[in-house]
Amino acid sequence: MDDNEQINFIQVTSQLNWDEYFMLLAMLASFKSKDPSTKVGCVFVDKYNHQITMGYNGAVAGIDETKIPWGNDRTVSLEFQKYGYVIHSEANAITHRNASLEGSRGYVTLFPCNECAKLIAAQRVEEIIYLSDKYSHTAENRIAKRIFDLAGVKYRQLKISPLLVDGLHGYLKQLLT
Ligand SMILES: [Zn+2]
Repeated sequence: MDDNEQINFIQVTSQLNWDEYFMLLAMLASFKSKDPSTKVGCVFVDKYNHQITMGYNGAVAGIDETKIPWGNDRTVSLEFQKYGYVIHSEANAITHRNASLEGSRGYVTLFPCNECAKLIAAQRVEEIIYLSDKYSHTAENRIAKRIFDLAGVKYRQLKISPLLVDGLHGYLKQLLT
């Protein structure tokens, strides 16, 4: 190539690494949740960084969401609390998958509960990457970690860099002003 033909061979970089990219997708999924108190999203990806399935916490697919209680007050019977009806994002993603999750990575906005940990471990997911672990003081959380440890599911927290947050601000500003 002479100098002229090299004109388009410029150095390029991505704003996002794979971890940040998929955590943003999980966050996007969480925005679709109707749950007024806790919106959670997740995405499972294969070793080639292709997404397999995504989910958010919501009502059972196919039922009228306006007919179920969305409040979280535990002083009434479970029959009248959201906890009796809502499916967690991980369970939703696993239910609606079209391919095996064996060896996959799961990106979750909130560390999985023990019920979802059972499903994740049974699917032979290789690693869980989470954003928040705000329920780390609960028994459910400790059980989930124990299940992962026993099943060999790795887990690690992702710190979203301030650079990425600044980048998003800049992007929105550039688009909207
Ligand atoms: Zn769960």
